[in-house]
Amino acid sequence: MAPRFPILSLDERRLTPALGFIFDARWLLPGESIVSILWKFARANGLPGHALVRLMGADIEPYEGVEPMRDAVDVKHLRRTLLLPGKVLHASLLDAGQRGRHHPAFRYCRQCVLLGHHSVTYQMFSENRCPAHQRKLETQCHRCGRETPYILNASLVGSPYRCAQCGELYATQSPPAFAAKPAMRKEHRIAIARHFHNRMAGSFCLGKDERNL
Ligand SMILES: [Zn+2]
Ligand SMILES: [Zn+2]
Repeated sequence: MAPRFPILSLDERRLTPALGFIFDARWLLPGESIVSILWKFARANGLPGHALVRLMGADIEPYEGVEPMRDAVDVKHLRRTLLLPGKVLHASLLDAGQRGRHHPAFRYCRQCVLLGHHSVTYQMFSENRCPAHQRKLETQCHRCGRETPYILNASLVGSPYRCAQCGELYATQSPPAFAAKPAMRKEHRIAIARHFHNRMAGSFCLGKDERNL
C-alpha cells in the first residue's frame, strides 16, 4: 500500500524536511537496529536511501555510507530528525568497543523481516538464532545467494526488506507499512524484548519496561 501523504521534499543542505516527518516510536521493539528504524522511516515518509544516509552526518557520502557504530554516526542530529529518544538510537547502533564481534553482512530472521523487524543483536557473532522464532539467522539472499554489507549506505537503506544486490524480498512479502496494531505476536515481542534486555541491559542502561508491548 502506498503512503497517502505527499513525498517530502528535503532541504539538501540542512536535510530539514519541509513538511515534517512521520514516525511512531510504537513501531519499534527494544533493540530494533538502526537499519530497521530507517527502513520504517523510509517507507512511512517515501524517502530514498541516499537522503536518509545524509541524516547520519553532514560529511557522509551516501553511496559510500558509514558503519552503523555509535562513534561514527551523528546521534544528536539523528535524534532531532527522527524525534526518537537518545537511548533508542544508542541501542540501535553497534558499540565501537566491540569491533570485530559484529557480522559484516546484514543478518536477518526471515520471520522477523516479514513482520518488519531487525534487531541489533542479529549482527553479533554470539547470536545464532532469533529469540522469538528460533530460526537460524541468515545472511544470504535466497535468490542471488549474495550478502549485503552491514553499512549504512544508499544501497542498504534504500532497499527496505529486500536484498540490496538483486532486489528480491528477504521474506515472502513486504511487511505492512502503517499497521495500527503490532504485526508480531505478543509472546514473540516479549521474547525479543526480554532477550535484548538480558543481553544488553548492562551496556545500554535500559530499564525492563515491557508494558508497552
Ligand atoms: Zn524472528
Ligand atoms: Zn539477492
